[in-house]
Amino acid sequence: MILGCHVQMKAPDYVLGSVQEALLYGANALMLYTGAPQNTRRNPIEKMKVKEAQQLMEKSGIPMQHMIIHAPYIINPANSVKPEVAELAKEFLESELKRTHEIGAKYLVLHPGSYTTTDLETGIRTIVERLNSIEDYPENVIICLETMAGKGSEVGFRFEHLAEIIQKTEHPERFGVCLDTCHISDAGYDVNDFDGVLDEFDRIIGLDRLHVIHLNDSKNERGARKDRHANLGMGTIGFETLHRIAENERTAHIPKILETPYINKKPPYSYEIEMLKSGVYDPEVLNSL
Ligand code: FE
Ligand code: FE
Ligand code: ZN
Repeated sequence: MILGCHVQMKAPDYVLGSVQEALLYGANALMLYTGAPQNTRRNPIEKMKVKEAQQLMEKSGIPMQHMIIHAPYIINPANSVKPEVAELAKEFLESELKRTHEIGAKYLVLHPGSYTTTDLETGIRTIVERLNSIEDYPENVIICLETMAGKGSEVGFRFEHLAEIIQKTEHPERFGVCLDTCHISDAGYDVNDFDGVLDEFDRIIGLDRLHVIHLNDSKNERGARKDRHANLGMGTIGFETLHRIAENERTAHIPKILETPYINKKPPYSYEIEMLKSGVYDPEVLNSL
């Protein structure tokens, strides 16, 4: 199983610290933001201990494709209402793509964004324009559009939205998808029938475009369009289903990344990863954190 989680990226060890944190949890994949997800302040790449991080990845036998970068959610590529937001989205996306390339990662996860006061169609058109406007696109980096819960005016809560965006870009080969189990359940998909979900994904987007899975339980009922992650087994999806997803052979080659909440300010990831590996769910361990 390729299992990882969201890890921190902070001074003094930056990306090296991210890899060390992932190893501490027994993970063989990881996901990081290149800075605070809610702002665009970033450290120069020279400071981020990239070489040391790459060496530790290699020494630990973890391929660089298992290091996923997540773009900050302040980027809203669907916003056509405020030109300054649109300009920020373009510029920041370009610098984030450059950073992803310099770190040596392959997949950059991006939220398609929210259309705010316009409509879905305008939102989709705006995203396509934004993606087409990217200059100096680095080779070997794939932007993975994330499936969304459909909260507010979010775009991307149906596979059809993501398929349309990708098909309409000038360079569809640059784009893939990150599937978030909490989000798609909130969007109304029945993740209990994960093979059915994969069939639908394959028909509409193509399974070859699926590169990252976010493995999260959900605090809300299927179709609630809320987006609140729960720890494995503590939400409406349940451990059994999430474990079956982690074991699914059709997606065995795809990193599964936990974005579950901390419990009592402590990361639950060692325990959640261990439970997925063993298939044994022990809520006591999580509750006693
Ligand atoms: Fe995300
Ligand atoms: Fe996610
Ligand atoms: Zn989420």
